[in-house]
Amino acid sequence: MISIVEERKEEQQNQEFEFEEYPFRIWEQVADQYRQEIVTLQHQIWQSNIDKFYQKGIPKKLQQKLKKMKMGKSNRQCSICCNNFQKDETIIQLPCKHIYHQSCLFSWLDHSTKCPNCRSDVLEALKDQEK
Ligand SMILES: [Zn+2]
Ligand SMILES: [Zn+2]
Repeated sequence: MISIVEERKEEQQNQEFEFEEYPFRIWEQVADQYRQEIVTLQHQIWQSNIDKFYQKGIPKKLQQKLKKMKMGKSNRQCSICCNNFQKDETIIQLPCKHIYHQSCLFSWLDHSTKCPNCRSDVLEALKDQEK
């Protein structure tokens, strides 16, 4: 008899213990959710700042001023896409004399102002041309 009563007591104690812990768990979950949302937001803000900070490609208008050429017969390679130039493809010659496919170079110059090959500054060269 005694043992049965004691078991019940233990059960009750366990229930009480869980009951006390329950609200804390919910608040911890809520806090975790908020913490995660804050981290996500912070990351988004950080990312957009980085994008603004490092987005220093060449504006499309200036890209149009680069020297366009039609490719003749050649077995040279575009070092952005690593494909050979085909005859009559539109290519761009940078002021440093390196040549690339127009589409390859334009998407490159959206993010960078430098020649992918020799790293010379295309934007500076374009500005010099305008002077
Ligand atoms: Zn290419
Ligand atoms: Zn170059």
